[in-house]
Amino acid sequence: MSGHFHHWRDTLQDLGVIGLVPPPYQSEPLHDTPVVPQKNIVAQQPVLEKTIASPVPPPPSGPKAVPPQDLVDGAASLAALETCIQDCQACPLGAGRIKFVFGEGDPAARILFVGEGPGRDEDLQGRPFVGKAGELLDKMLGAMGFSRNQVYICNVVKCRPPDNRTPTPAEAQRCLPYLRRQIELIRPAVIVTLGATPLRELLGVSTGITRIRGQWQTLDMLGGIPVMPTFHPAYVLRQYTQDVRRAVWADLQAARNWLSENHGPAK
Ligand code: SF4
Repeated sequence: MSGHFHHWRDTLQDLGVIGLVPPPYQSEPLHDTPVVPQKNIVAQQPVLEKTIASPVPPPPSGPKAVPPQDLVDGAASLAALETCIQDCQACPLGAGRIKFVFGEGDPAARILFVGEGPGRDEDLQGRPFVGKAGELLDKMLGAMGFSRNQVYICNVVKCRPPDNRTPTPAEAQRCLPYLRRQIELIRPAVIVTLGATPLRELLGVSTGITRIRGQWQTLDMLGGIPVMPTFHPAYVLRQYTQDVRRAVWADLQAARNWLSENHGPAK
């Protein structure tokens, strides 16, 4: 049996399409223990003798801390947009991040995956979906016939919320213009939203993800972009049942089939 077939079979099993395989990540906690930023560790060390207090750096300010909207709107490429916003401190999440997580993939991808926000691994590496959920997303992409560099992956917020909590509506809405500019530059043919947050913040749809997943939505941008809502891979890991895996697989198949029917097979 070839390695490719093994990969395909394993992926289908993971998604619940064939067989029922033991959950690989059941013992893993969904939300990792938050990393205490180095600056906090330093701040908690005992003061052994009287020292002259170091001046506390002022909060970031100036044009880089809150990128001007006209520069965001005028960014001519994803690289230019990233340069423009990578030092952003426009919402409280900026102060706690280790790394800014812009997104990655094909700048002209036909399919865009949008998650909620960076977790611990993403914050450490500055890349989206690189932890356990990222491993599952890679398998999901493989089952669709895509590799990571054939799609684009990003999040609603670019900085990690503390303790992996859901971003507040204010944080998400503050970051949303960056995502919208990413979408304008990528011009995807179809978007897959992962979990409830991107659906709520990007499309204004607050219906529970369990009820609305698998039902096509339309993003009112670029003449209307079809959006397929599905579960977040982290939820799939947490609820590793055959029903959940089958549901996700059905949603991904729907997105892939729509692409094939309207834009030809995967390149
Ligand atoms: S989450 Fe978005 S708006 Fe908030 S600081 Fe980070 S880049 Fe800026």
